[in-house]
Amino acid sequence: MSSSKAARMHRSNISAKPQMQVRTHDQIDKRVPPEIWEQIFNHLYPSQLSRISMVNKNLNVIVSSLEVWPRMFYAAHGPKAQLRPLMSIPKFKSSSMIFMCASSLHICEKCFGLTGYNADKLYMLPLPIPVLLPRRSTDAIKYVGGRFDPNWTIRMCLPCRQGHISDLEEPIPLYVLNGQIDWNSLRDKYPCAGLTPEFRRRPFNNRVFWELDAFNCIRQYFGGDVGIKAYNVSTEACDEMTATRIRWYQLQG
Ligand SMILES: [Zn+2]
Repeated sequence: MSSSKAARMHRSNISAKPQMQVRTHDQIDKRVPPEIWEQIFNHLYPSQLSRISMVNKNLNVIVSSLEVWPRMFYAAHGPKAQLRPLMSIPKFKSSSMIFMCASSLHICEKCFGLTGYNADKLYMLPLPIPVLLPRRSTDAIKYVGGRFDPNWTIRMCLPCRQGHISDLEEPIPLYVLNGQIDWNSLRDKYPCAGLTPEFRRRPFNNRVFWELDAFNCIRQYFGGDVGIKAYNVSTEACDEMTATRIRWYQLQG
């Protein structure tokens, strides 16, 4: 935010009456009928909905009663799966939302598929992928300091990422050079290169590649730049977090 914009906001906060602001905000979400909210929310992904549920109690009730939560639960865990309702929250639908948020690191937000943890195939876990901004803004992917803005990402499994990045042009990361690179250097730089269909054939010992072309092949197979990074960066911390959250959920029952 620019300093002049921040100063303007600061000034307007000083001049506004705080009680009036709170009351107006409350009225807006209650003036819109719940059915209209439901229609709007049906266009959003689960992680975006979970953020909206934290705005206030009214929106929390609307969001937690959406059909998406039980649908996501049964899609991920099978039609015969049973969800234990929480002691303090008797409504079944609310329980679904809380459980799905607890296990969200393993669920794809696009196809609702569940990906189990596999230490050798961490890149298969659902990873955050940028989604386009609404049309009224710049229609561009939003980056914050070279990283994806988490407010504009959703978690997708590998097949969904592979489909998504063919529709969505990802910017070339700064570390990719458009020069020639030999096979050994390519494999040092991208350890996952040998797993992609284009590079499975051996031996490549003396062959030279254009790095940008090679990177694009690897990116297509691993579901984008995030998929390539995930191959090297351990996501075990995320997995432990999910286990802790699910354990916490089960202790509430
Ligand atoms: Zn998926």
